[in-house]
Amino acid sequence: MAAATATLGAPARTPSSYHRIRPPAPIPVGLLACQRDPLARDLATTAVSCRVSQSPTVPSNGREGKKKKAAPALTAPLIEVILHDTVIFPEGGGQPSDVGTLTSADGELWDVVEAKRHGGHAVHYVRLRPEQDVDNGLKVFAPGALVGVALGEAGYKRRLDHMCMHTSQHLLSAVLEHQLHVDTIAWSLTGAPAQEIAYVQEECNRLVFEGRAVHIEVEELDTAGAKVKSGPTVGIPDDYTGGVKRTVVIDGVDRNPCCGTHAPSLHNLQLYLLPHTEALARGGTAFAGSVRLYFLAGPRLLAHLGAAHTTLTAAAGVMNCGAPQVPERVQQVVDERRRATKRVEDLEAELAGPVAAELFERVAGGEEAQDDDGGNVLGFLSAVATSFAGKVAEAEGGATPFLLVLSSSPAAQSATSTTVVLVGPRWSGKFTGVWVENREGATAASILEGVQL
Ligand SMILES: [Zn+2]
Repeated sequence: MAAATATLGAPARTPSSYHRIRPPAPIPVGLLACQRDPLARDLATTAVSCRVSQSPTVPSNGREGKKKKAAPALTAPLIEVILHDTVIFPEGGGQPSDVGTLTSADGELWDVVEAKRHGGHAVHYVRLRPEQDVDNGLKVFAPGALVGVALGEAGYKRRLDHMCMHTSQHLLSAVLEHQLHVDTIAWSLTGAPAQEIAYVQEECNRLVFEGRAVHIEVEELDTAGAKVKSGPTVGIPDDYTGGVKRTVVIDGVDRNPCCGTHAPSLHNLQLYLLPHTEALARGGTAFAGSVRLYFLAGPRLLAHLGAAHTTLTAAAGVMNCGAPQVPERVQQVVDERRRATKRVEDLEAELAGPVAAELFERVAGGEEAQDDDGGNVLGFLSAVATSFAGKVAEAEGGATPFLLVLSSSPAAQSATSTTVVLVGPRWSGKFTGVWVENREGATAASILEGVQL
């Protein structure tokens, strides 16, 4: 029966709209777009969930450390958005969160101020602008809604900086560990640190010049074996669930579990170790006897070089010399200043005697006298007072009580100039403004007149 062989034609291709997951499940942290392609700047995706944040500030996950400054109190509402996928890296692996924007289907831009990993998912914290309202936010990020996610110019710059520093940290740790046989948290100062620093820097940059490739290997998460705490990362966090084990591999140099974003190659990551180390002398802790190394790489290194050059050029301009001569010229100026100060002190000490003698001739009992002076005014007035007391002791055998008030104003006075007043050798005060003899001077004189010795 030929009719029985009449069949349908070859099956058509199944349309992509055939299989729909409502709402789409989020891709777990570990496989996010920012981790698969760290150079991607934007992505079209869909919303998975959205809710109003319980707190006006992004909650701490307890990993920021004590040094993080308290965020200013913000009143604009915060909403938490989970997307199917994202190019915004949530804080993790020692790498800070990215910032960026979400674009809702109506074209409106929403600011992502931070992203954090909660369990296995990345949560985007969106701070509403003054003209944005919560209800609309919940509507445009409803499950399944189309969303654009982007780092933007500032967000990409920030990511590039983090990524370069982070990748360089892997390289530095690997060279320290594999070639000098020291852990990243236990570098003994025995030996010659300057030589070791130079060696490590040279070795790191040799690998940078070679442009060693970096890649990521992803495996099924083996919970039992994955909790290894090693390398520059803190291993896989206990609350990380439902994801994968990621290993960052620097070709021929290192393998380390890490969830951060890494440059695909060491190319252009030139690394500079600052010739400055800090001993971590916290006795009794795991860091006792360790040393903190400071390094710069990527855009941060270029920014540092620019700033250092500007500072040095400005100093050379002030010192009227070439940049290499700046340290020598600064030392000369400091030495000259030290000698000049000593000379002024010597001259004032010499001058105090004649000034006190002249005062002693002019005053009887208590009277105010005034001298213009600069530099160490109080020291000079004290020297005059001490010398004056010596004169009284010589002349009267120290029997006559006296009260001496000295004041010294700058020759040219202004509203901000300071007049120093010394009463006897023990009490001193300052007057800010213009000291007028028949005003402030008269007040001082009238107070003196009322004093009974
Ligand atoms: Zn890493």
